[in-house]
Amino acid sequence: MRCACLMCGYIYYPEKGDPEHGVEPGTEASELPAEWTCPKCKSSQDAFAMMEDEEEE
Ligand SMILES: [Zn+2]
Repeated sequence: MRCACLMCGYIYYPEKGDPEHGVEPGTEASELPAEWTCPKCKSSQDAFAMMEDEEEE
């Protein structure tokens, strides 16, 4: 499941992860380390909203 930062619009994709900040590709949003913050605006995960995967076929 993706999650989106409500502060800046950044979207976390589990398949991409955030390797620059120690999150390996394949890490689900629910498994993000507690200290992980938005790579764009540094908001805490409180600012993130889970997004159901949309069907984009
Ligand atoms: Zn953000």
